[in-house]
Amino acid sequence: MQADGHGLIFGPVRSGRLGASLGLDLLGAKICSFDCLYCEVGHTRALTRTRKPYVPADRLLGELAGWLFSPHPDFEVVTLGGMGEPTLNSDMGRIIEGVRELVPGVPVAVLTNSSLINDPQVRTELALADIVLPSMDSLVPTEFAAINKPLSGMSLVDIRRGLLEFRKCFTGKLCLEVLVLAGVNDSLENLQRLRAFVAELAPDRVDVVTMTRPGAYPQALPAPPETLERFREGLCLATESVAPEPEKAKHFGLALDNPAQEELQALSMRVLDSLARRPQSAQGLAQALGVAQEPLLNLLDDLARRGLVKPTRLGGETFYLRGDGSRA
Ligand code: SF4
Repeated sequence: MQADGHGLIFGPVRSGRLGASLGLDLLGAKICSFDCLYCEVGHTRALTRTRKPYVPADRLLGELAGWLFSPHPDFEVVTLGGMGEPTLNSDMGRIIEGVRELVPGVPVAVLTNSSLINDPQVRTELALADIVLPSMDSLVPTEFAAINKPLSGMSLVDIRRGLLEFRKCFTGKLCLEVLVLAGVNDSLENLQRLRAFVAELAPDRVDVVTMTRPGAYPQALPAPPETLERFREGLCLATESVAPEPEKAKHFGLALDNPAQEELQALSMRVLDSLARRPQSAQGLAQALGVAQEPLLNLLDDLARRGLVKPTRLGGETFYLRGDGSRA
């Protein structure tokens, strides 16, 4: 649930890996060191590795405090991420500590593309989290370049070394993610290199996934189930990467069968705001916003007729994008 005026707080959304996850956007815009083919947020127009307080800790924590003081659904984890690479925010360490004070006892997770993990300061800040979910899609340099389209000069050797260093000092849970695309990083060579790396890194878990929503580039195609199975078997994870069932769905307290105009307007804004972050299916959106799916479909049809959302098909399912080009 995203309250009006709380643009940096999103969800809680159902996360296959984490459960009911309240998201914090540490960037406020698409700012990243990569331009991944599969990115749900759209193209990275200007890549960077410069760390800055893109969203200052005081502002983000102030918004979180405001959100917590208004009625809100349950959540199980606070996840630092957003519209780009969260470790680029130089206030990340202060943000993690601030979240702990505001929601004591709730684990703090950080999603990262691993690109800055060779920086000791980044490792120190990341080590404050309870769960770190770094990505590593390919250890084959040509595949790494093709799938992640990194900022010029970024090296797999540094990323690999940084992850191994981080593992030595991190006492929390480390969950490596490998996203496989058909014909891009699905090679036997990649699987063999990843297998050796996983044996060395010894993460708590490895998640092999593929894209489930439209990506930034048309050549990004989901890997078929047999490829995913091959990677899962190779990386010894078969059962753990299965997504848990959604947590107790909370329903947004709107009488959607006969909604007041003002409430409908508020829900429309939340739908558009959520779709600006990433394309979603009606089912995913209903879970994220805590509303029933059928009336939401009527609202999506209405927004599509007005050109505000755009339905698109992927893998036999309909996803909705913002229709006004404001996806990133
Ligand atoms: S998927 Fe993540 S790492 Fe890749 S471009 Fe998008 S935000 Fe950056």
